[in-house]
Amino acid sequence: MAYVRTEYPQWSWSFSRQRIFASCLRRYYYTYYASHNGWERDAPPEAATAYRLKQLANLYTTLGDAVHKTAESMVARAAQGRELPPVQAVEEEIRRHLRRVWKSSRENREAFLLRPNRVDMLREFYYGTGVSDALIERINQRLVQAAQGLVRSQVWTDLRRKGTLVVSCEQFETISLAGTPVYAVPDLIYRDGEGRWVVVDWKSGEEVEENRDQVALYVLFVQVKYAVPAAKITARLEYLIEERWVELQFSDEHLQEVKDKALASMEEMKKLLQDPRHNIPRPKEQFDLTEAREQCPFCNFYELCEQELELSAG
Ligand code: SF4
Repeated sequence: MAYVRTEYPQWSWSFSRQRIFASCLRRYYYTYYASHNGWERDAPPEAATAYRLKQLANLYTTLGDAVHKTAESMVARAAQGRELPPVQAVEEEIRRHLRRVWKSSRENREAFLLRPNRVDMLREFYYGTGVSDALIERINQRLVQAAQGLVRSQVWTDLRRKGTLVVSCEQFETISLAGTPVYAVPDLIYRDGEGRWVVVDWKSGEEVEENRDQVALYVLFVQVKYAVPAAKITARLEYLIEERWVELQFSDEHLQEVKDKALASMEEMKKLLQDPRHNIPRPKEQFDLTEAREQCPFCNFYELCEQELELSAG
């Protein structure tokens, strides 16, 4: 499809958009508005910088990506009826991905500055803060645990059962809520021989309350997109590090609440638009810097906020 330039980004909603909106309005502005068209050769400096900083990863997100990519290749193998790799091979595949990102971050700074969407860069390298031994140790530990958790996942037993069908894996999904495109990428959706649908979310971090809201939204996707009654859909949160999972069912009433929450969140976001029809934001200054300043040194956009943070600190 041919690239069509737009002055402003398309309006949409997602769970991660809501999370960023709740964490810091300025981060939300940089992520969803200022970075738009920042990929263009003659982009204004702030747009180019916001776009570049938006691409930065950190070791936790990189581990999460590596785990999900590895899980995806395991699902493809399982769907073809092939043997799954042993835990050492799974661990090695995750490690390979991390090594690649680490190496790129160390060696490819110039290339990243030129083509930030094509070159992996860890924020620890970009900002030159370095990575502590304690963090490397923690990531290593998690990597080993995540590989074990993945190999022992309930998914493989289910996928081997006769009649089970993989519906989607790491696939970008869209539904429309009150005219707004809502995006999500569920890790895995499958249907068993008895017509039960399962939505799997693999987590390489700790359990937090919002995980339930996130999978509830995935269940809503299955309900709307595949016309499946809520009673036939199970959401499974698999906490790989702890090697345990939680299965959840959502009633129609609960899913209506999820919808209502999403719609309320959209309304909150729209209050910061000067033209909701064209998704034109209010001026940057109306997107406040977070009060929770302890998160700023770990934020991708620190470079853009640094001066203002210093001034506001007095
Ligand atoms: S550095 Fe702080 S104020 Fe600036 S975008 Fe990030 S979290 Fe928000």
